[in-house]
Amino acid sequence: MQHDHDIIIVGGGMVGAALAARVGHAGFSVGLVEHGDSPTPPPPSGDYDLRISSLNARSLAFVKASGTTLPEERCCPFRHIDVSNQDGTGHSLFSAHDSGMDDFGIFIENRTLQYALWQRLEQLPSVTCYTQCAPLSTITSSTGRLLELDNGKTLSARLIVGADGAQSTLRELAGINVSSHDYHQRAMIINVETELPQQDVSWQVFTPTGPIAMLPLPGHRASLVWYDTDSTTQAREQLDDEALKAAIEMAFPKRLGNLIRIVARASFPIKRQHAHRYIGKRLALIGDAAHVVHPLAGQGLNIGLHDADTLAEIIIQGRDPGDYLNLLRFECQRRAANQTMIAATDSFHHLFTGAKPLRQLGDLSLQIAERFPFAKRMMMQQANGLNPFKMW
Ligand SMILES: Cc1cc2nc3c(=O)[nH]c(=O)nc-3n(C[C@H](O)[C@H](O)[C@H](O)COP(=O)(O)OP(=O)(O)OC[C@H]3O[C@@H](n4cnc5c(N)ncnc54)[C@H](O)[C@@H]3O)c2cc1C
Repeated sequence: MQHDHDIIIVGGGMVGAALAARVGHAGFSVGLVEHGDSPTPPPPSGDYDLRISSLNARSLAFVKASGTTLPEERCCPFRHIDVSNQDGTGHSLFSAHDSGMDDFGIFIENRTLQYALWQRLEQLPSVTCYTQCAPLSTITSSTGRLLELDNGKTLSARLIVGADGAQSTLRELAGINVSSHDYHQRAMIINVETELPQQDVSWQVFTPTGPIAMLPLPGHRASLVWYDTDSTTQAREQLDDEALKAAIEMAFPKRLGNLIRIVARASFPIKRQHAHRYIGKRLALIGDAAHVVHPLAGQGLNIGLHDADTLAEIIIQGRDPGDYLNLLRFECQRRAANQTMIAATDSFHHLFTGAKPLRQLGDLSLQIAERFPFAKRMMMQQANGLNPFKMW
């Protein structure tokens, strides 16, 4: 049977677009279904978008393997991660240099990354983007799967991939359930202009109500992340810019320096979620459609891109992109890795915001990381999407 595409990807966010670019670059015919518009370019003014993410070594290599070019002037490499607790009893500095790397990766705006990936898709003749439409139903045929869209079109492919985020429609249409947990926390993200240039250090300070973090952006810009309970965050959101500036200067460490202005702000609920299955007949889920992790370690997008990387390699090496045994290999590899990350971020959350004995254990873990270089190296390798046991 002739299909419209080898692979249809539902969701053109960073993870779906990255998979489309990688397999499209390898010559597969790809249909990308996105219910929004194609992304617009980031503003040239130097103001940065609110949502930014860290990309680790493996994620960057994967994005670049599709021929995508990232605009250097909007990427901020970081070489150190400084983790401490508020009362100073636990502190650990992770340096890329200690692991033989130049940097840990980059911080980049979500919108800049998504736009760069879509620019690459436009150059690939084997990729067709269907915007402003969403799936209504899906059924399998003997050699593939059909996808009925809400614009009246029906498409078919040998594999359909759901990369349509935490509320995935494709996951629901495939009847795949999720387990989820609400942390009753929100992350307030605040883009600021600072008097000091922001260096190549990303730092995080744990407090009993949640971590506060500074993610560097190029020049005198930074993205602050302030985790707190739902109610405290909602009250903080009511502050005007001057009052918020004063609250930040009180709560954040002095090393942040003076704030010139608040550029933008928003808050997001924090939860974790894991799909019971990543695959079905000629169907796979990747990115937030498959898992949502606590963002305190900045790994949600990274593990989504690692899903896309693993699936792309399996597709490129195999003969039929929807072959069930290959999809099973994908699920085995990625579920184990993602479960580890979910458990690690969950433990971090409880160790640093739980009852006092748990917090003391959290402090101890930072002291161990600081005293035993091998423990530190293993943590860094794991966070970079590399196998921590390969180096021995
Ligand atoms: C506060 C916060 C900070 C974070 N910081 C980091 C970080 O530093 N590093 C990191 O790695 N991760 C971070 N994350 C996590 C990261 O943002 C997500 O894991 C990532 O955005 C998931 O990408 P995705 O492409 O899977 O899903 P999404 O970004 O949700 O994209 C889904 C796409 O599918 C489209 N779509 C949705 N429904 C449909 C439909 N029915 N039909 C067609 N299209 C559809 C949407 O329009 C969208 O384009 C953070 C998360 C939060 C909340």
